[in-house]
Amino acid sequence: MSLFLTLIPIISALFLALFGVHLIPVPRISHYELILTAVLVLQALLFIFATSSQQTQYRMGSFARVAWMFALSWLAIHLLGGVAFKMNLVIALAAAALIGTSAHPIHAVYTILLTVAAAIITVTDKLFGYLPGSHPAVIQNIPDYVFSIFFPVVSVVLFQSVLLGFRQGRVVASSPAPIPSEPVTPITLGKDSATPKGSVIISQEGQTVDPAQASQFFSRLYLENQGEQALKDMKDILNTVVYFMSRNFKAYTSIGFLVSEFGDKMVINSVVTKSRNLNYDCVVEFGKGVIGSAVNKPGGFITGNLRSYTGDLEYYKEPENINSMMIMRVMDNQTKRIQGLLLVDSENMRAFTDEHKELMYRFTQIASAMITSAKLTYQMNKVAIQADLQYEIAKKLSESLKPEEVIDVLTQSLTRTFEHDRLIICAYNSATAKGAVWRLIGNPGGLVEGMEFDIHNERSLYGSVFRNRRSIVSQGYRNEERFFRFDREEPAELKPQDILIAPIHDDRQSVWAVVGIESNRPGVYSQSELQLLKTIMANVTTALTKARMYTEMEKLATIDGLTQIANHRKFQDIMTMELERSQRYSAPLTLLLMDIDHFKKFNDTYGHPVGDLVLQMVAKALQGSIRNTDYCARYGGEEFVVVLIQADENQSRVLAERIRNAVESLQIQNDGKILRVTVSIGSATFPTDAANKQELIDNADKAMYYSKQAGRNRVSFFSETRSQPAPAAAPAHH
Ligand code: GH3
Ligand code: MG
Ligand code: MG
Repeated sequence: MSLFLTLIPIISALFLALFGVHLIPVPRISHYELILTAVLVLQALLFIFATSSQQTQYRMGSFARVAWMFALSWLAIHLLGGVAFKMNLVIALAAAALIGTSAHPIHAVYTILLTVAAAIITVTDKLFGYLPGSHPAVIQNIPDYVFSIFFPVVSVVLFQSVLLGFRQGRVVASSPAPIPSEPVTPITLGKDSATPKGSVIISQEGQTVDPAQASQFFSRLYLENQGEQALKDMKDILNTVVYFMSRNFKAYTSIGFLVSEFGDKMVINSVVTKSRNLNYDCVVEFGKGVIGSAVNKPGGFITGNLRSYTGDLEYYKEPENINSMMIMRVMDNQTKRIQGLLLVDSENMRAFTDEHKELMYRFTQIASAMITSAKLTYQMNKVAIQADLQYEIAKKLSESLKPEEVIDVLTQSLTRTFEHDRLIICAYNSATAKGAVWRLIGNPGGLVEGMEFDIHNERSLYGSVFRNRRSIVSQGYRNEERFFRFDREEPAELKPQDILIAPIHDDRQSVWAVVGIESNRPGVYSQSELQLLKTIMANVTTALTKARMYTEMEKLATIDGLTQIANHRKFQDIMTMELERSQRYSAPLTLLLMDIDHFKKFNDTYGHPVGDLVLQMVAKALQGSIRNTDYCARYGGEEFVVVLIQADENQSRVLAERIRNAVESLQIQNDGKILRVTVSIGSATFPTDAANKQELIDNADKAMYYSKQAGRNRVSFFSETRSQPAPAAAPAHH
């Protein structure tokens, strides 16, 4: 396939070269064409460089890459040879743009270059009527339909194949890892030395360091769930305080700021002002400007002559005549984190005194209490919503009986529970001994399903979860320098900000898969999200354990433990089902019942364990002798049955004889001696020998008994035994 993909562009290029030369005899290459060629070659080099870079998510064989670029360049040069080919040019450029964008963000460069080229061509065409370096005279001699039909078709076909080549070529992994319907054999690596730890990683041991020393207030997910009302409630928190501040201080404007959603900025919560210019959307960055600096001033900031400070006041749209200002931060008494800022300003000089400062401090205390209370209400609501959701998830999980179902419910649950940009499920590919991106939900962010990575890479976050089976959260991953997501450095623009990763395992600790939730926005996941994830994963563990036990129990109930073929119960089920089908399609069905000859004596002579081995070997021999559609089962003790589908007495003769022979040929090694066993087989056919299941079994048994009577190691048919009396013991075969 890959050879084929490499050959297409070469053949196309040759074809185009010959065809192009015939069609457009270029006597000598103009400067313009030279430049054009140079640009294309440059693009090719750029492209080769980009795709071979270690940082990209995919690679392409370098030869195939060069071949494709060669074809592209040729095509482009020939198409650009004449203005009349505009139509093709547009198609070509559109296709190239598609290739560029479908491949990788870095190829936006490639797309941009081609777009610029298209623009230049269009403009020059408008100005000169034709492209410099082209040969309008030649073109005029070519019939119109050549342009209007042939070239577009050729272009489209060619570019489609180019596109196909890229699609095929860019995937690193040969194929996605198999669906984890079975757990990965536990990856037991013992104690791991490279557990991600540090300020941006909160490991299970709970090493928490928040990026900003501020208490985060809003959560987008929560507010989205709550709708308008929640937003309104949030707006009113500081209204009362701000109103009384305004009256007490005779302020021109008084504002209450709250720490934003991500704990990195201040946003306006409440305002009382005489100004018509207030910018309600203003945000104050920590430590920046007059207001932002107050964040770092425990005693507050007070000035009676604001003009000595440079810069505009960001909360006014137009400059106002403000001379005095007092700002004080609102602190959470318990956590000692900043919750907000209170601000008053005045047009008067020296409007605020030290006594005012004392009063302002009281206001911050009240504001803090109000924020704390609102926060509690908010958190309680959030907990209630989460509890409902978690209850629903737990219920759904408990209803899932298959591992695939569990994984499905899990992905739905996680996407509903956590604000995210993508969800990644990684499975372990035992064939390559690597981790693989198995499912990608949401914005792929430059990743592709099937991409494999080395889980043993000490710097790999996803790898560490495979190895340690422990959940982690990474905050501000974009600035992370010690760890990779997978096994290599990625371009900064592809890195998510926050990541939550958890192992999917059952109670045996075998890792089935690893799930990651990623957000491109910062401050979304913290210790509490990790805790929630762990709760969900605990339910998943229970569900997977149950699914595994269910599968095992189903197996126990239907498979015989010693011989690993169907047991008596399963045989009865099969018979019921197959007899029904046989009746419906008026097709015959034959039952063979067999019993090992003189097995009691065999056991007595060689011991029970050797007898057990014989039973296993006979079961194997049966399995090997029957057709795909037939069944065999251990009927009990040393008796076996074979159900032959769509076989009448005549057809079953060959199979029965084959089975008898297979058992007879078995060589049982014991103490350097070779032992042999034989079976006596009875056969009965539905509907000729019996009208129902029990009768069929009974009659097969009778036929089997007939075989025993007739000297063992033989096959007897019920139809033949019915008329004749049981024969006297005759010598056995051989
Ligand atoms: P016949 O040719 O008439 O069938 O003689 P036989 O000795 O096989 O007689 P019968 O069928 O009555 O004996 C069944 C013997 O099969 C009894 C028991 O020792 C042996 N047997 C039954 N189940 C097992 C088993 O699970 N393991 C072993 N090793 N022996 C078994
Ligand atoms: Mg028996
Ligand atoms: Mg027997």
